[in-house]
Amino acid sequence: MSDLTAPKGTFDTLPPASAQFRAVRDTLTAPLRRAGYGYVETPVFEDTAVFARGVGESTDVVSKEMYTFTDRGGRSLTLRPELTAGLMRAFIEHRLYSGALPVKLWTVGSAFRYERPQAGRYRHFTQVDCEALGVDDPALDAEVVALAVQGFRDLGLADFELLLTSLGDSTCRPQYRELLVDFLAKLDLDEETRRRAEINPLRVLDDKRPEVQAQLDDAPLMVDHLSDSTKAHYDAVREYLTDLGVTWTEAPKLVRGLDYYTKTTFEFVHSGLGAQSAIGGGGRYDGLSAALGGPDVSGIGYAVGVDRTLLAVQAEGLDVVADAGVQAFVVPLGAEAKKLAVRLVGQLRQAGVSADTVYGDRGLKGAMKAADRSGATHAVVVGDRDLADGVAQLRDLRTGEQSAVPLAELFERVRATVGA
Ligand code: AMP
Repeated sequence: MSDLTAPKGTFDTLPPASAQFRAVRDTLTAPLRRAGYGYVETPVFEDTAVFARGVGESTDVVSKEMYTFTDRGGRSLTLRPELTAGLMRAFIEHRLYSGALPVKLWTVGSAFRYERPQAGRYRHFTQVDCEALGVDDPALDAEVVALAVQGFRDLGLADFELLLTSLGDSTCRPQYRELLVDFLAKLDLDEETRRRAEINPLRVLDDKRPEVQAQLDDAPLMVDHLSDSTKAHYDAVREYLTDLGVTWTEAPKLVRGLDYYTKTTFEFVHSGLGAQSAIGGGGRYDGLSAALGGPDVSGIGYAVGVDRTLLAVQAEGLDVVADAGVQAFVVPLGAEAKKLAVRLVGQLRQAGVSADTVYGDRGLKGAMKAADRSGATHAVVVGDRDLADGVAQLRDLRTGEQSAVPLAELFERVRATVGA
């Protein structure tokens, strides 16, 4: 046994479980593809400033959890802890804002955070990311939220909830922040929380400890202090969501771990996951582009965690894997049959039928076991005697029924039988 293992907080996704992971990932992205969002890839590492400025210096993500390193050229680089800031960097760098708006983008890929690992919280995880940039229209907020909901629904998930609020914007949040700071200053808080209350008072509202929550019953809430324009925006978002058949729970104390959110802010939680219950979240981030040195354009988006959504799928006992294995499996017995097997598998694959055979010397028993494990509905079993008779046996692995098929018709028969 080697002493080399996957790094702490990371894991390998192996077959057959990996088919579930892939199904979840692809189901979550399908609504984005259907809605005309364009696929983007950005590097997994960026200039550290992209996250420091984009996500915010005071956030846990930036101050405690980033994988930052200096490369051989002396640059400070960081493995992306989330995907939005890099997408926004690309949007600005390639001046996508000067074309037709909104610019609608999606991506899926690895994110890295130096967190304390536990169930559902890893150091390497995968996010699906959706962004609609350049237009501040509440209908767009509703579209983006509904696309995330669609992905969860398509997986068959039922036990998830959309938490929704508005965090206001620069026209009303500063005044609200002062109210909140004054309120928090009067509470009995420990030193660290007090410090947090000064740097990022909204974050204290989200404190999970009962002794803190007990003091927050009368805390002023952003939603009660929205300016007329942000209130109208929030009302419109909720109306559109209703039109789209999306239900939500008002969550006036919802605060997210990233600094850039304004106005519409949301999170998806799943009741089957324990402490790490968030399967996705997002919101509007009208200040992010400017924070990264770009033009003052708005944006709305979300990130959904593929790993956690997979845990939710498992918690609900859903079967999300449609095509677990191959359709046909060829079992050759003997050297001549092996040649036929290799040729037949090649032909079937070229014709779009997924097929496999055995490699190495497995014997009939081992080969039939491999056929059963392959997920195939049908096996072609062919031995020397069959070859002498000019036939192969086509066997339905579900019923055990078997019939001899002339070799000249074999390919067509297999294709017609399993390819339907
Ligand atoms: P965030 O970028 O923090 O808003 O996270 C968006 C989603 O990514 C969360 O709702 C989770 O589903 C997922 N996520 C965030 N951090 C982790 C992590 N350390 N491990 C696994 N999933 C995560």
